[in-house]
Amino acid sequence: MSGITIGVASETAVGEKRVALTPETCKKLVARGARVRIERGAGRAASFTDEAYVQAGAELADDAAAALGQADVVLCVQSPDPARLSALREGAALVGLLAPQADAARGEVIVAQRLQAFPLERLPRTTRAQAMDVLSSQAGMAGYKAVLIAGQLTPRFFPMLTTAAGTIRPSKVLIVGAGVAGLQAIATAKRLGAQVEGFDVRPETREQIESLGGKFLDLGVSAAGEGGYARQLTDEERAEQQRRLGEHLKNIDVIVCTAAVPGRPAPKIVTAAMIAGMKPGSVLVDLAAETGGNCELTQPGETIDVNGVTIAGPLNLASSGAVHASEMYARNVFNFVSLFVNDGAVTYDWNDELLAKTVWPERPAVAAPAAA
Ligand code: NAD
Repeated sequence: MSGITIGVASETAVGEKRVALTPETCKKLVARGARVRIERGAGRAASFTDEAYVQAGAELADDAAAALGQADVVLCVQSPDPARLSALREGAALVGLLAPQADAARGEVIVAQRLQAFPLERLPRTTRAQAMDVLSSQAGMAGYKAVLIAGQLTPRFFPMLTTAAGTIRPSKVLIVGAGVAGLQAIATAKRLGAQVEGFDVRPETREQIESLGGKFLDLGVSAAGEGGYARQLTDEERAEQQRRLGEHLKNIDVIVCTAAVPGRPAPKIVTAAMIAGMKPGSVLVDLAAETGGNCELTQPGETIDVNGVTIAGPLNLASSGAVHASEMYARNVFNFVSLFVNDGAVTYDWNDELLAKTVWPERPAVAAPAAA
């Protein structure tokens, strides 16, 4: 009989279709000596059936309380609500995109229940952590879907076509921000046959954009920051970037915005004046809508028309590709959980920086041994 129980309930956030456990990862956790309980129907929105989980060794629970109540480790995509958290076993591990600071009540319950909460968005982005990096895996799906949405909204073809009705010129697509989502967007737009440009304030993205067949749009501004992320731009740098971009956008058919600065609202890059200068029939898909949008006019969750320019601000795009997004997310979670679930037991090695830096609240620094 195994020593620990891993619990998974249905996601409760509106529109969330992903699931943190797939039959594949369920099987692997069972092989690690864990007992897995999953709420009936928890995988349905991501197309994973209860039968598949049972075949992978899971027990089905009739409701969330039965799935989570006795669990030593709880896996989720988005955090359960405070009421659900307060019903967890004291000291249980909680793994997911928890955003504990986003909701004071959530943070309080995590502390009060002494949960070992691992908000995966805090995971250090080191080479060793790549297989656990949910931000990257989910951003890949989001970038892909953003281009498909743009392809759906645009009144144009993406590729060049030579037909009996004459030649169609390829769409000019600009991807703003060339992080994980942006690079996937570039690759996707390229595969659809568009003429693709990308731009980012980190100069190293030039090579990455070019290696995907895109053209680097040089706006004369570099903002390489720490840890591979961008820093905030100065006012002068921003003004120059804006001026050059505004000119350039007059000739662009589709923009996909993916720019972000960690821990801050999305940088506002496309202004109302720039949109006014664009051709009717142009489309902007703002992947940054969740954190306020890269375009001044973006309305999160809405698709609007501004003088013939369509501006879409889709939310939680990764969820719209729930099968593959869940497969990747669940593998990331499995790899992370493998750091502390072994032989049917939970053991934390706090010398492992992936655990120590991800856990929330932050662990106090270990005091240096007293001098003799
Ligand atoms: P992100 O989602 O935080 O940002 C997306 C992009 O927006 C970034 O490329 C950023 O430079 C860009 N950006 C910010 N402000 C901008 C502005 N004003 N104009 C134009 N672009 C702007 O980033 P992300 O995709 O999560 O990751 C960014 C980078 O971090 C990666 O490309 C990679 O280099 C690094 N990374 C490393 C690892 C690892 O080593 N394990 C894993 C993931 C990411």
